[in-house]
Amino acid sequence: LHGTMKPVVPDTEHRIGSGFPLQSKLTRLQLVDEEQQFSDKLSDYMQQRWQLSTAGFDYDVVAVFGSQSTGKSTLLNRLFGTRFDVMDEGQRQQTTRGIWADRGTDGMPVLIMDVEGTDGRERGENQDFERKSALFSLAMAEVLLVNMWETMVGLYNGANMGLLKTVMEVNLQLFGGGREGKTLIYFVIRDHVSPTPLENLAKTLCKDMERIWAELSKPSGLETAELSDYFDLKFVSLPHKLLQPEEFEEAAIGLRRQFTDKDSKDYVFRPAYKRQVPADGFAHYAQAVWEKVVSNKDLDLPTQQELLAQYRCDEIAAAALEPFRAALEPLRPRVRAGEIVDALGSVGGAARSQAIKEFDEQAARYHAAVYAKKRAAFVQALDGELHALALNQVKNALAQATETFSTEGSQVLEDAAKNDGDDAGKGFAEVVGSVRRRVRAWFDKVVAGLAVDEDSAGAFAAETRQLEAMLDATTAKLRTAEMERVLEQLRRTTRETLSEETSDQLNSPGSDGMWAGVMGAFDTASQRADEQLQRRMERAEVADGDTRRRLEQRLHRGLWEDLVALLREEVADQMVLLRLRGALEDRFRYDASGLPRVWRPTDDIDAHFAQARSSAQALLPLFSRIDPTASRVLTVDAYFPSGFDPTPTLTLISGSRLRDLARRFGREADALYLEAKRALVATQSH
Ligand code: GDP
Ligand code: MG
Repeated sequence: LHGTMKPVVPDTEHRIGSGFPLQSKLTRLQLVDEEQQFSDKLSDYMQQRWQLSTAGFDYDVVAVFGSQSTGKSTLLNRLFGTRFDVMDEGQRQQTTRGIWADRGTDGMPVLIMDVEGTDGRERGENQDFERKSALFSLAMAEVLLVNMWETMVGLYNGANMGLLKTVMEVNLQLFGGGREGKTLIYFVIRDHVSPTPLENLAKTLCKDMERIWAELSKPSGLETAELSDYFDLKFVSLPHKLLQPEEFEEAAIGLRRQFTDKDSKDYVFRPAYKRQVPADGFAHYAQAVWEKVVSNKDLDLPTQQELLAQYRCDEIAAAALEPFRAALEPLRPRVRAGEIVDALGSVGGAARSQAIKEFDEQAARYHAAVYAKKRAAFVQALDGELHALALNQVKNALAQATETFSTEGSQVLEDAAKNDGDDAGKGFAEVVGSVRRRVRAWFDKVVAGLAVDEDSAGAFAAETRQLEAMLDATTAKLRTAEMERVLEQLRRTTRETLSEETSDQLNSPGSDGMWAGVMGAFDTASQRADEQLQRRMERAEVADGDTRRRLEQRLHRGLWEDLVALLREEVADQMVLLRLRGALEDRFRYDASGLPRVWRPTDDIDAHFAQARSSAQALLPLFSRIDPTASRVLTVDAYFPSGFDPTPTLTLISGSRLRDLARRFGREADALYLEAKRALVATQSH
């Protein structure tokens, strides 16, 4: 009945219910095919058909090992409700070689791998696959079911022992010194019909195992390693399925409980056996391990798990990055367009914590060091994107602050100038200072609104310094503009005062001190303007000595130029002629006591006239040139530094114009004389 003999009684699988529904054939997957190709569907199966990919660590993996046709698939189907192919006893041919996988029914979060194709009769080609599937199964499974006939127990040189030797060998290669996975080897002894108790069978198998372990050449450093460091051994036997079908089914149900009942003391999935592979990384991991196995490359699981962690952390990060970017996307063009988007900080912060949360939820299950590193990189990537956007916003704020400060700054200064006039009201520093504080507070608020965590403080220190520098520079510009306005204003008011006074002075040219009077008025007005300038510089906080001196000099030079301009207006042709005629008439028509003259025939009109005319004409040179000697202001070196020479400005009427005016005055005088003569003749003829 054993070994090469095939069962003759039809399989009762479909007729004898085992208490749970059989799964549809559609859910099983040929994980590795006859050509040793790994299926590209595992990920889909994990997600859709098995719905295990979100299980995290809450799933278990079982693999079965044993000679061909020892009822492995039959057993798995009993235990897990799977539908692995069972050899048809009529055909007596081997089922498809390869590794099959399925999920347990009834919500059992267990992945079962059925390894086909091991046949003790055909060594050689099969040995290669045997070794590879052993490596793979051991890498993946927490529990390795080793299936054998009772009659095979104790056949130390039989196929089973060769297989177990392979298992132990590859185990050392896989786990080495890492000890990160212990595996339960669960011997299932089939067709237990002899009276030999299970304990004895177990003892025999244990001894065999220890012997194999002892004979195994172990890598250096692991010479003293014990079998029990790597494996737990567990044993069960089943009644003969064909001879005792009911007992067999009953035993199968009992055995199934060890895989489902977490509270049972026989529960097989102990934490010690857990492979550190989260369900969402299982597909990738399984494939990577298989590729290594197939290509005979060195395979150690710690490295594989690190690689898996890297791969998965990257995948998880990429997935978490998408909604993060999507959340920021609508804001991006607005920020780029220069807008200050108030919600940027809150939206960015929320998207950031959500992304980190999503990353953590999945990635935290992976290799701790890799996870920590990838997490830091991920957070850095998020912060990088946020910072770029935030920086854009801060730059926008900087630009807006600059604009606001300079326009509002000059506006308030203009308003203050209008309202306050010269002396009253708030000063420059106060007015500009309040705008500056407002702008700075606004900018600080924009920056604070962009903070995503405590580390964000000082993130825009450079931009804040830039803002301060800008505020300083703009304040300086506003101050310059303010002082220009002050200069202009002082010159305007001074010109108004002087205009009247010079005109008065020039209207009474006869008095000796005409220029002294003009200069006196100039000095007084200049001193008053200077005092006001000092006060305005004080208020505008013009601290720099050179700047102060330059402003003073500009004021005084300006005042002088204004005076010269005023005087030039006063000595325009008509004005001069008017004044000369006035003087002539004064002297000719009025006597010394200011009474109008009445000419008598005896009067020497000609002589009188000649005298009056020459004294009027003598005024012309007086008007033609400023005499600045009476001015004390002009001699103040601080106002007019030594480089300044007023001489070229002193001439009001040039030589040719002077001669022309003399001629024109002469003609007017002649006309006046004739008129006087005619009047006299008229009087005498009456
Ligand atoms: P596998 O090749 O190890 O997967 O074996 P199968 O499950 O395909 O079973 C091979 C044959 O053995 C089938 O005809 C089964 O009906 C039969 N069989 C299954 N379980 C037992 C058992 O416990 N005892 C005996 N005698 N035959 C069994
Ligand atoms: Mg099978």
